[in-house]
Amino acid sequence: MPEPLLDRIGRPLRDLRVSVTDRCNFRCTYCMPKEVFGKDHAFLPRSQILTFEEITRVAAIFAGLGVEKLRLTGGEPLLRKHLEKLIALLTGVHGLQDITLTTNGSLLEQKARSLFEAGLRRITVSLDALDPRTFAAMNDMEFPVERVLQGIQAAADAGFAPIKINMVVRRGVNEADLLPMARRFQEPPFVLRFIEYMDVGNTNGWRLADVVSGNEILDRIGAELPLVPLTPNYPGEVARRFRHRDSGGEIGVITSVTQPFCRHCTRARLAADGGLYPCLFANRGLDLRAPLRAGLGDREIAELIRSFWSAREDRYSEVRSEATRELPKPEMSVLGG
Ligand code: SAM
Ligand code: SF4
Ligand code: SF4
Repeated sequence: MPEPLLDRIGRPLRDLRVSVTDRCNFRCTYCMPKEVFGKDHAFLPRSQILTFEEITRVAAIFAGLGVEKLRLTGGEPLLRKHLEKLIALLTGVHGLQDITLTTNGSLLEQKARSLFEAGLRRITVSLDALDPRTFAAMNDMEFPVERVLQGIQAAADAGFAPIKINMVVRRGVNEADLLPMARRFQEPPFVLRFIEYMDVGNTNGWRLADVVSGNEILDRIGAELPLVPLTPNYPGEVARRFRHRDSGGEIGVITSVTQPFCRHCTRARLAADGGLYPCLFANRGLDLRAPLRAGLGDREIAELIRSFWSAREDRYSEVRSEATRELPKPEMSVLGG
């Protein structure tokens, strides 16, 4: 085993999130509000987006530097044509132990089987509400919740396990869906994760008052469905996990705002245009597309990543305040959530 590559505060590089597109068919108000991502919005031209071969090459270089987990995201990753081809390529990368994908579920009904056949085994579906009106208001495209539920069912039928369900909770918007969601997804293969609403990007008008804390969420669920804490799978696990005492299923909270976990953050992010970011809130990335296309060898690119990671000292969530809210930040749809 080579020595782990550590950043300035001793965090190893273990995970890579790859955004495969900055486009999305939803306009979730907390991520790509319509007023900003309107009809005239200029998305990345195709020529500026990394090809599957480029992504696979970068993934292999990262695996050589210690990355074991890779998550495909976006924008909406299932909008990228022939994504199955990328999955098949990535399953062949030596050292990658875990490949997964986060999707809004809108195209999952059609795609679940082919994704599974390409080698994907784990999937995360974002779903913020079961109530049709609340869901339509959150995705802001009148997309019917029923179609996402059919997509989740198709994933279960195809054999995906676990299927994680991500719910971003916003005060006064989808709080009423907490319990119905916990009830519906309380058995395997489902693992429900409640996510504190974050101040990503500069367009969603985030306010601390809109955040429902993980503790409050757990109290509200636990009062109806008793929960038993689970020991972390590994030190510094991002989600705080619990078991439903009665059904045996798993549930968790990701408390990025009220109990940040930056000191355990081992994640780099590769944006759709090949920019490499050390943190979800970093406003500048290292361009990997130019060196890839300029013909640099794998060793030289690995060296660029090495110096990038060694210089990393980001820990935004630990220093977040009303003042940091105003700092320029990349949009999550570009960087990859
Ligand atoms: N389009 C896909 C989806 O929605 O699953 C993948 C990309 S999306 C940016 C990844 C995740 O980020 C989703 O689970 C979404 O709910 C979450 N997300 C987006 N904006 C957020 C915010 N302001 N706070 C917390 N989570 C957010
Ligand atoms: Fe699209 Fe996902 Fe952002 Fe919603 S959270 S707008 S589905 S990228
Ligand atoms: Fe990692 Fe940045 Fe999030 Fe902290 S704020 S957990 S460093 S991505």
